[in-house]
Amino acid sequence: PISADPRLRAKADGAHDVLMLVNDVSEWRRLERMRSEFVANVSHELKTPIAAIRGFAETLLDGGVDEEAQQKFLQTIYDESMRMGNLVSDLLELSKLEATDSRVDPVAVDLYEVLERAVDRIGPTASERGIRIVIPPRDPVQVWAEPDMLLQVFLNLLANAIHYSPPQSTIRVTWDVLVDRIKVHVQDNGIGIPQESLDRVFERFYRVHKDRSRASGGTGLGLAIVKHIISSLGGEVGVESEEGKGSDFWFTLSRLDRPVSARSR
Ligand code: ADP
Repeated sequence: PISADPRLRAKADGAHDVLMLVNDVSEWRRLERMRSEFVANVSHELKTPIAAIRGFAETLLDGGVDEEAQQKFLQTIYDESMRMGNLVSDLLELSKLEATDSRVDPVAVDLYEVLERAVDRIGPTASERGIRIVIPPRDPVQVWAEPDMLLQVFLNLLANAIHYSPPQSTIRVTWDVLVDRIKVHVQDNGIGIPQESLDRVFERFYRVHKDRSRASGGTGLGLAIVKHIISSLGGEVGVESEEGKGSDFWFTLSRLDRPVSARSR
């Protein structure tokens, strides 16, 4: 309770200031810890491909490697440099998102049109593995979003669905029209995610399937980017999954055409 005695009041205010300061300091420490963990993670992620590139290049320079092995080493050098390129693009994407965080200006976007663009772009990767992407029948649905950001969300979710699914399987994109939102699902019949990891897959650099992520050139940042974009558009993201059965990644966005309520009709 706040005392009526001015001297005690001053004391209470002082204590409050000290408490605020302590809170600020611990918040600052937390952010500082997150920042240095992030830098450590990035350095680690870069060290691995650099070590591989250097090692294989040295072996090639030393000579005495037969042509078949040469081809294999060059392929590894190529793959690892691609991985570094992906990492740098994802890092740039994240820092761009952080810089524009509060300045996203959602506009009316046709969800179907953006999905079509994503499928056109990623279709060839799916076809290489005989994977089919099934999308809803053409039906314009307007949401509040930013077209390039929404495209990125679809590309990241579809790329994951492809990479973590067996050949010849099917990926389905569907949506539920709710009262004021649209809930979009990207479902696969892939390897799934264990229950204890479900909360963590949206964290930066968290990977469940490390080898598989590596093999597909994954950066561990795709879902962190998805979460960042969707929350800056005011939506939510989540995942339901069963190991060995498949995953259902979903996100929500505000609808543009809220239905006319019964009373105002
Ligand atoms: P990555 O580049 O490693 O795919 P993401 O941030 O996109 O990074 O995903 C984080 C981790 O979540 C992945 O390493 C993978 O273990 C898991 N994951 C993501 N999408 C799927 C999916 N559709 N099916 C199974 N596991 C997935």
